[in-house]
Amino acid sequence: MSQHFLLSAASRTLSLKGIYQMGEDKAYQTFCEMRWDGGQATCPRCGCLDTYHISTRRKFKCKDCKHHFSVTSGTIFASRKMSFTDLLAAICLIVNGAKGISMIQMSRDLCCQYKTAFVLAHKIREAMGSARPSMPLEGDVEVDGMYNGGYVRPANLKENRVDRRLAEHQTGKRRVVVAFRQRKGRTLPFVVRSEAEGVELAMQHVSRMAVMHADEASHWDRLHEGWQVGRINHSEAYATLESCTNQVESYFSRLRRMIRGQHHHVSARYLHQYANHAAWLEDHRGLPNGELAGRVGDLALAHAISRNWKGYWQR
Ligand SMILES: [Zn+2]
Repeated sequence: MSQHFLLSAASRTLSLKGIYQMGEDKAYQTFCEMRWDGGQATCPRCGCLDTYHISTRRKFKCKDCKHHFSVTSGTIFASRKMSFTDLLAAICLIVNGAKGISMIQMSRDLCCQYKTAFVLAHKIREAMGSARPSMPLEGDVEVDGMYNGGYVRPANLKENRVDRRLAEHQTGKRRVVVAFRQRKGRTLPFVVRSEAEGVELAMQHVSRMAVMHADEASHWDRLHEGWQVGRINHSEAYATLESCTNQVESYFSRLRRMIRGQHHHVSARYLHQYANHAAWLEDHRGLPNGELAGRVGDLALAHAISRNWKGYWQR
């Protein structure tokens, strides 16, 4: 299998300058190579490799079923209005932001509307989320949770004050990200209403042969029924291993910095997207940014039009 430009050594450091110097034709070629092996167009309807290339319009017509398509047809970039260089630049900005990127900044850098940047970034996040590990996690698996949202502003006058810990639950907006992180492996986040739901999730996504690591919160006690479990502080009820959850905590620290530093407020509706974004960055940290961009491009072009974002503009 031939490698496309972004996965080659030449793209080790990918800059915006490099992308715009490459020009629209080379960027288009890169998209063809990210979508199809060797860049050879394949009909998305019948799989036929015999196509007419209508190069002036960057469209293809299948010789077999006569279907018209483009390099972005049927992917999250379908009905794109941006140039290929701008799309590559957007991917580059997203993979370069180790703690995420605000949509204000992205719209300024790409010189596009805020809403365009917002939808594009979410589509790219969704593509990153499509790379979630499908096999159960194995080996040493750390679990922890992070609460988000449902903040209740303290009342100014003392007599109006309530127990905010209770009030936060009542806004209905509070969610928790429960994440499993396999040591030297992948990070798998979920958005739920309470951390205790993590036990159910562990049953579905963590191999019973794994050794789990959790903090001393009492709902994790149930993990001992299914796994060998290390707890951070020795609980009196169990004979436990020496343990730590540093790796899953470093994921949460990235997610927290992403939310507080770039987005300030993240609604329950989009929280899973940011959780997946941070997990992908965490799991691919240390790779050269050209390769990161190449991988995200591959995912985006293998990912079908998103139900969430299709018709977003009509809403
Ligand atoms: Zn066809």
